[in-house]
Amino acid sequence: MSAQGIDRRTVLKAAAAFAATGLTSCLPLAQSGGRSLPARGEFVIRGATVLTVDAAIGDFARGDVHVKDGVIIAVGPKLEAPGASVIDAGGMICMPGFVDTHWHLWTSALRSVVRIDDAKRGYFPVTNALGRHYTPEDSYRNVRLGLAEGLSAGATTVHNWAHNIRSPAHADAELRAMRDMGVRGRLAYGTPQGGPDDQPMDLEGLAKIQREWMPNDGMLTLGICSRNVGDSTNVLRGNISVDIARKDWGGARALGVPITMHTSGPSPIKFLEESNLLGPDVQLVHPLLTTAEERQILRKRGVSYSISPTGESRRSAQVGVIQLGELLAAGVKVSISIDHTSGYACDYFQCMRILYSLQLHRFGAKAPLTSKRLVQMATLDGAVDLGIAERTGSLTPGKRADIILVRTTDINMTPLSEPYEALVTFAQPRNIDTVIADGRILRRAGEFTALDHAQVLAQGAESAAALRSRANWS
Ligand SMILES: [Zn+2]
Repeated sequence: MSAQGIDRRTVLKAAAAFAATGLTSCLPLAQSGGRSLPARGEFVIRGATVLTVDAAIGDFARGDVHVKDGVIIAVGPKLEAPGASVIDAGGMICMPGFVDTHWHLWTSALRSVVRIDDAKRGYFPVTNALGRHYTPEDSYRNVRLGLAEGLSAGATTVHNWAHNIRSPAHADAELRAMRDMGVRGRLAYGTPQGGPDDQPMDLEGLAKIQREWMPNDGMLTLGICSRNVGDSTNVLRGNISVDIARKDWGGARALGVPITMHTSGPSPIKFLEESNLLGPDVQLVHPLLTTAEERQILRKRGVSYSISPTGESRRSAQVGVIQLGELLAAGVKVSISIDHTSGYACDYFQCMRILYSLQLHRFGAKAPLTSKRLVQMATLDGAVDLGIAERTGSLTPGKRADIILVRTTDINMTPLSEPYEALVTFAQPRNIDTVIADGRILRRAGEFTALDHAQVLAQGAESAAALRSRANWS
């Protein structure tokens, strides 16, 4: 019997056991649903246009990548790899997987509820109202659903911005979903939606999760996502005093875990600096309203900034524009993120395209931005932001094998132009043929190799419907 068959049987058994309890308001457990990951093996990717995103190695118009037991062994033309199975990558671009540095995976199934054209049913009202009804099972299913889309779009690393951790069991469920899907990533442990802002976060729960999950095989790391400090313009995000921030951030630092925080609204950077809170373990999100002085503070403190081009470019210019050019000029670390997928689809090519267009629109020839720089931003720079660049982000021998193959023979990609330009100007997620994370071939020929994709989708939809019902959301 296939592993997927066993999974289904387990789920059905769990469903039957649950039904016998007479309860109807929660979902049967699906937590064994995605655990059948393919084994790591030895293979060589042959005949691709190889973009290593490693300046010391450079690129190959026609080259190979040799992978064994999850590690990149060698990169170059006509590699000797006796005994390795061969992936024919003729007509494909071989590059590092995308590194997403900020994604609220727990909201993934709510795309069926969130409306972009009705403010009362927008992202924040929906996630706040339904978020209060999440069981760990809902967290598991939503994270798994989001990661299925992320892998389809070429993300092999995701920073899971989990700002609805209602208990350590919810954090455990989100980590299990990440592990079961085979991605690399960080769980940023947050506070529950609707929780009190005058109380510190659950630092004991954070410590418990750290004890139980860290260290692991290097795939998953832990951080915290902070409620906003010094910005009360969106109460649904949570807004804490500097005293509470000192407790939360200090507690995280005592455990050695990094911190991330949204900054849309009035910029809190000077205030954070004056409160001695900034350091290289801090990532901020949404660079829209920074001043020149603040950008110097960020550079000096080693703070990174995650840009979410799809969502940020939809906001009114009155709340600021994406300050990519300013941040790069100031030497601030930047990376790319999708933010969430309840209002749009996951597409890192589109993210790069938006940033390219916006930079040209704002600065013209004064601050040119190359396609190559954008591909680096979506891969290696994300790994730098998350502090894992020694493990991933480029096709460097010795790093773990997080690799995607992009078909250039599809109608929207052919004839192939300069490969970086093709990626930024023409590519779409449907061109991604193969996705490899830590040496596991998770997708091949545009399909999952082991995941029961239909089950993941169905159970995500089931979770959204049940949440809507429990929250009496019409
Ligand atoms: Zn966000």
